[in-house]
Amino acid sequence: MKLEHHYAALGDAFSSHVAIQPLHEQRLVECNQTLASFLEIDFKSPETRAILLGEESVPNSLSMVYAGHQFGGFSPQLGDGRGVLLGEIRAPDGRLYDLHMKGAGLTPYSRRGDGRAVLRSCIREYLASEAMAALQIPTSRALALFDSREAVYREIPEPGAMLLRSAHGHIRFGHFEYFFYQGKQDELQQLIDYCLKQYFPDALTAEQPLVAMLFEVVKRTAQMIAKWQSVGFQHGVMNTDNFSMTGETIDYGPYGFMEDFDEGWVCNHSDYEGRYAFSRQPGVGLWNLNCLMRCFSEHLSRDQLVAILQTYETQLQTHYDHLMMAKMGLQKQQDLHALLPPLLQLMSKEKMDYTLFFRLLSSLEQNDFAPILDEVIDREAMRDWLHEYQSVRLKEDGDWSSVSDAMLAVNPKFILRNYLAHEAIQAAERGDYLPFRRLLNVLNSPFADHDAANDLAQRAPEWGKSLEVSCSS
Ligand code: AMP
Ligand code: MG
Repeated sequence: MKLEHHYAALGDAFSSHVAIQPLHEQRLVECNQTLASFLEIDFKSPETRAILLGEESVPNSLSMVYAGHQFGGFSPQLGDGRGVLLGEIRAPDGRLYDLHMKGAGLTPYSRRGDGRAVLRSCIREYLASEAMAALQIPTSRALALFDSREAVYREIPEPGAMLLRSAHGHIRFGHFEYFFYQGKQDELQQLIDYCLKQYFPDALTAEQPLVAMLFEVVKRTAQMIAKWQSVGFQHGVMNTDNFSMTGETIDYGPYGFMEDFDEGWVCNHSDYEGRYAFSRQPGVGLWNLNCLMRCFSEHLSRDQLVAILQTYETQLQTHYDHLMMAKMGLQKQQDLHALLPPLLQLMSKEKMDYTLFFRLLSSLEQNDFAPILDEVIDREAMRDWLHEYQSVRLKEDGDWSSVSDAMLAVNPKFILRNYLAHEAIQAAERGDYLPFRRLLNVLNSPFADHDAANDLAQRAPEWGKSLEVSCSS
């Protein structure tokens, strides 16, 4: 494992030196071999294990300091309260990847927290981030899961754990806010230069590199959120400290994947006002970008910043439309605009399962609507919609079955249902990781049939619909 230390080289204003503090009887229980080989990490190597288990410390490991708008209010100082950045690895694609351990112990930014993570939250992050990666959504990814015999106290004592994860970058919008609101323009400039060099090298050749970088951040954020909306992912805590400059989904907490379709759904039970409700995510993305842009008010004019922000909506809408057209097997945006709104209304009225509906639509025979009609109460309304849909599809190029094949390749059969995560967690807490591995396996290739795992592609039973998830874990 060849660790580099680029972020550490920025200096003390950006982080504090922190080492991994091992848990009692910590052991490696799962690792992501595909990603590990890509990053050339050998989990069998004694040196690597010693570093990851905190037996040997890395001279430059650190916790990052940042700020952030949390639920609309500004917190001038946050930071990795339980995370340690071990360093970066240069992968064969030439890019740097952060190696970050969650649950590694107290840091100067732990505030009232204990610096730890429980097995439940590490498993939730492992499953969700791998599911997102397989759905082609830029995301941090799980590399390894460690469990332990150490009790970590939440409402009740729970097994403590750590999650090793990797992302192209962990620099958050809140990093910029931290320096901007303290008037630390030199550090702000250092951070701009760092991001340009590490994440946006193409922007360096532009006439105004900062402007080019910000256009790209807006684009990546818009595309990330368009993808969330298309698969029904809800982040749950879209604070600016949980938004990465690289446009990767990070900080998996009380997230959720849409089951019964409901645009107003709020997955985070601590989000009392529904600030981060599913349908509000696109708007919050813009709100967060606005916070980020403010940090460059000494560098760029108001008009320039507004012009950059103005590209967001079109980027998001266009990307979302293309994703939804692919999901529905449509070729024209105008057809999507005619067919999608009434469909979503129907889905909402019928409380249809978002994932299963699109999968059913993908395998629908040209003249047999029964598989979908059998799922609804208002058969008349659904039949009308299906007729409209059918007539549009029949006017398009390509035969019905090849379009259906293309739809099956973009509409997952498997999604991370909350109750499935819950069952995998309960088993893992008893020391049985088989359900976790079985679930992970289908989430890693969610478009495949996995006939032996049909039980993992079903709607939640009643008890599984009311499970609560909230912020701190
Ligand atoms: P989040 O909204 O989950 O990203 O967390 C907000 C902040 O709280 C971040 O700075 C986290 O590092 C910190 N945090 C969350 N849980 C803990 C914990 N158990 N101990 C210390 N800090 C924590
Ligand atoms: Mg966070």
